[in-house]
Formats: sequence, structure tokens, C-alpha cells
Amino acid sequence: MNSRQLEALFDRLFPINRSITGNGLRKSLAIIGEYIPLNIIEYKSGTKCFDWVVPEEWNISEAYIEDQNGKRIVDFKENNLHVMGYSIPVFGIFTMDDLLPHLFTIPEKPDAIPFVTSYYKRNWGFCLSHNTLLKMKDSSYRVCIESELSEGSLTLGELLIKGKSKKEVLLFSHIGHPSMANDQLSGPLTLVGLASRLLTKKEMLKYSYRFVLAPETIGSIAYIARNKSRLRKRVMGGMTAACTADHGGFTYRTPKRGNTPFDTAVETALKQSGEIFEIHGFSPLGCDERHFNSHGIGIAIGSLMRTPPGQYPEYHTSLDNKDFISFDKLTASVDLLESAISNFESDCIIQAIHKNCEPKLDKHGLYPTTSNKNDKNQETGRLVSIWALADGRLLSEISTGLGISTVEARKLADKLAAHKLIRIRETL
Ligand code: ZN
Repeated sequence: MNSRQLEALFDRLFPINRSITGNGLRKSLAIIGEYIPLNIIEYKSGTKCFDWVVPEEWNISEAYIEDQNGKRIVDFKENNLHVMGYSIPVFGIFTMDDLLPHLFTIPEKPDAIPFVTSYYKRNWGFCLSHNTLLKMKDSSYRVCIESELSEGSLTLGELLIKGKSKKEVLLFSHIGHPSMANDQLSGPLTLVGLASRLLTKKEMLKYSYRFVLAPETIGSIAYIARNKSRLRKRVMGGMTAACTADHGGFTYRTPKRGNTPFDTAVETALKQSGEIFEIHGFSPLGCDERHFNSHGIGIAIGSLMRTPPGQYPEYHTSLDNKDFISFDKLTASVDLLESAISNFESDCIIQAIHKNCEPKLDKHGLYPTTSNKNDKNQETGRLVSIWALADGRLLSEISTGLGISTVEARKLADKLAAHKLIRIRETL
């Protein structure tokens, strides 16, 4: 999928009111299912998942605050951030004093509507711009929240693209926030874009790629609880994707126990991307990767972001909207992941066959034929380096040192192998 196609999907998903359960989440996954063949999974309310329980399902049809003249001053229909997520139903007339504890604003960002939830404690509330609050001068207001909390289920979407090996790379993004752009839709859209590209070349894939789109925290925990032994057996690496469409450079957080071959593939892709990037260690307060990396699970999942959640002022407010993000940056995030996967797929273990001093490359027909003398020297040097370091190590370790992608290094390793100077073993 290209930038224009991702934008068209964004426009369909943005208006939907999503939460960690409910029909908005279900509808969003159904729309994504039109682009990639998602398997929809439902976990029933009350399902125990380690220390957690799948909550009741929340759905909402209407919510507003009306002044004494019958004018709706806050209306869920205008912006679905106006209602605190998981608000219980409320009807009645409230004095301003009684209403105030249920109103959420950000005084230092007076135009922004904040995103507030109360998933695990029964409560209700409205989120509004501070400027709207300052205009509320009536002594009482009519309040309506027509919501329902009931036995239902938590919905998630999964897609497995099978390669030659059952060993998997896991790619996760949370889905379940209402109308926000960078921290909500950029993560799922990055993975949808990537999955659509991998599907076109699935016959060539060495490894399998599993995509999971699920609500944050309870969604990933429920998924891990249901699939723990398979995940531990098959997942070689992977990442969560979130906040991947703002104008910042890339930030990659490595897994708790980092430096897996998949991390190297990501780091090489970052170096080749031409964008500014930072690599940080695992954060216990990061995205859903923290559950995959947790005690007893121990799956090495990193996290790809541009500006991390919480580190930009628009985060979790109505200002995180379409104007805030760039579809070119979103597409570049898809490109980066695709390039990381190409590196990972190209990686292999190499072992020298030729021994007793350096091979004479021209004798083996490996002296480059290009006319540029500098290029010649560079390729010759790389061929010699790959042979010299071929002691059973991963090619990616060598490509990193040479400052080239594993994809490029693999082309050179294949030449050396074709002339029986090294042996290649796929890392399956
Ligand atoms: Zn968030």
C-alpha cells in the first residue's frame, strides 16, 4: 500500500469511536479486513488472563451536556473524545458543582479535548476544551450518557503470513483509541501497509510473519495468555509499532534482552533509511512490548516509533489529528519495516571453505568488472572481509561492520558461495 491508499484507509477509520471493546473496535477491524485477510478473534468478558480479566463490553450511542436553553454545549456526535471511555449511563440535571468533578480539560492547552478513560473503575465523565468550560456559566446542566456495559467480548485481529519456516516474527499494534491520528491509527496503518506488501511476496519468505492488532494492555495480555507456549516456541523477534506518522525521526526501543538478529536487521534498516534515528534500551513503561518481554514470557519484542507516546504536546488530545501527521512519514515507516524484514530474510550463517591465506579473487573470477576504480576497490575489500570473517557467524554482524545492508552483503556472500570460497547456511 502506498501513501494515498493508507490515507484513504485512515479517512475511513478516523471517525469511528473505538475503545478496548465494543462495536467501534469490531467495525474498525472489519474495515482493515477488507485490505488484509485478518482473522477476527473474540475473548469473552470475564475471561481470566493471568492477573487480568477481560472487562465487560462497552458501547455508546449518545452523550451530551445541555445548558438551560436546551443548547448542547458538549456533544459526543461532534467529537467522540468528548466522553470518557467506559462511562456508565447517566441521565439527569446536575448543578455545576456536582458536574465539575466529571469534567476533564487541559488548562494549559485550552483548545484541546483530552482523551480520558476509566476502564477498570466505574465512573462517568466528559472531556472538553478548557475554553468551553470557561463559557459554562449556568447553575445547572442536563446530562445524558446513553451507554451500555454488558457481557460481551474483546475483539482482536490476527494475520499469519506463512513462510518456509514456522519460526515467526511478531508484529503488534494496539488498536482501541477513539479519533486520534498518531497515537492510534499510525501503528495499525503501518502494519496494514507492511502486511499488504509481504502478502505480495509471501512465496519468497523464509520466515513466517504474524500480525496482531489488539487493544492495548488487556488485548496484548489476553493474546499472550491464550498463546503463550506457541509464542515462546516460535517467535524469534519482532516489534510493536505506535506513533509512526508524526514529523519526528525514528525511535527504536530494543527488547529487554536486546541484540537479537531481528534487532540487528532493524538497526541496519535505520542506518540505511537516511532519517534521523535514536536507539534506546527497553522501557518498563513502554508500549505493549513490555508484556511480551515480561517475566515468564521473555519474548524479545522491540518497539518502533517516531516521537514516543507522551513526548509530543498533542498526545492523547484532539490535537493529535490528521493535520498533525504526515502520510509520507507513515509510508516511510512502512518502508523501514519492509527493509528491516529484507535484511532479516537475507541473514545467514557463513563459514569459509577456502583456507590457507586469502583467495586470489581474479583467479576465481571475482575481481569486479565495473569500470570505476573506487567501486572496484570497495567491492573487492568487502568480498575479502566477508570471506575473512566467515567463521560461522551471522552475515548481519559483518554487514553492520562494513556499513552496508544485509541485503547487499548477501549478494556478495552468494558470489563467494558460488565460487566455493564460503558455505552459506540459512538461519531457519
Ligand atoms: Zn495511547
